Amino acid sequence: PNFETLFSGRARAIQSSAIREILKVTERPDIISFAGGLPAPETFPVKETLAAMERVLTGCGREALQYSTTEGFAPLREWIAARNSTPEAPVHPDQVLMVSGSQQGLDLLAKVLIDPGDTVLVETPTYLGALQAFSLFEPKYVSIPSDGDGLMPETMNGSLRGAKFLYCLPNFQNPTGRLLAEERRYRLAEKARELDLLILEDDPYGELSYAGDTPRTIRSLAPERTVYMGSFSKILAPGIRLGYVIAPTALRAKLVQAKQATDLHTSTLAQMAAYEVVKDGFLNGHIPTIRKLYSDQCQAMLGALSRHMPEGVRWNSPKGGMFLWAELPKGMDAGALLAKAVENNVAFVPGMPFFAANPSIEALRLAFVTVPPPRIE
Ligand code: PMP
Repeated sequence: PNFETLFSGRARAIQSSAIREILKVTERPDIISFAGGLPAPETFPVKETLAAMERVLTGCGREALQYSTTEGFAPLREWIAARNSTPEAPVHPDQVLMVSGSQQGLDLLAKVLIDPGDTVLVETPTYLGALQAFSLFEPKYVSIPSDGDGLMPETMNGSLRGAKFLYCLPNFQNPTGRLLAEERRYRLAEKARELDLLILEDDPYGELSYAGDTPRTIRSLAPERTVYMGSFSKILAPGIRLGYVIAPTALRAKLVQAKQATDLHTSTLAQMAAYEVVKDGFLNGHIPTIRKLYSDQCQAMLGALSRHMPEGVRWNSPKGGMFLWAELPKGMDAGALLAKAVENNVAFVPGMPFFAANPSIEALRLAFVTVPPPRIE
């Protein structure tokens, strides 16, 4: 058959990007890659996961290998509810839906919320993977002006009323590494009430602050209108594909139906093993080691940039997470620079695809946690 005519309009609209083609070469071992958004593998709890798998399979192997509920493994949902509860905004385990990576949360939310032509509000720039998930359902994007402190709630006016939701990344955002300033979180919660807006809060990096706690979540400030997404990818390991959505009850019920159609449920074995790893406080010791490593990696990157970048290149200084954002001198194209960099065995991601509209050609993302400091230098 002619697949081009078989594909749905939605599938035909997916574009393979030129950048993806260039970045294919970044898997070569001789390339120093700041491109991939991978966590540092030395932080993966291999030993603990092996022991947990052993305990799960020995203790309740048949249950672990059986189909289970779409909502997810109850003890893990209870653990997540307790961990995310605040005095002002408690989480009930029935609000938690386990998903196969928070990326699936984005897909399910898009499925149940977006009709073609609906308005979706995003940051400038925003997470490319969310744009990919949302775009299949053909929304119209409106980019909210943002600066080094994140999106600017004061720019949000009555014209945004009727938008389906605002997608926001308050903590160490992918791609910029920036943090949404605390007072903006309060103003955003107020704005959302004023404009009757649903907020999707995507927070895979919130635990990766280099020093001190991150400010309050948007969910804790506006629980009735926020859907919160968390992930085990950056605090345990991405290969177990485990994330979760905390949603108001009516929305959560719809997400459960959508997930049933997608994959019935998230891996029972993965959920039980992850619960076995985290249930007795493992993360209390583990997360600080990730924070320390990433902070040191970030310092190495900042030091190397200040020693080697020519005049006119600017970059931020993230307070957590895995990324920093740089800007080349006005008019210099980061995509063209990538081609040259790859010839010299270095890769990064140009900033363009992270913008829903009016991309900055000068911007680029540097991921710094998987390259040893001497190679960064
Ligand atoms: N949201 C953001 C902002 C991300 O950076 C990522 C991972 N790159 C995801 C969601 C998806 O993470 P996962 O599916 O591994 O939980």
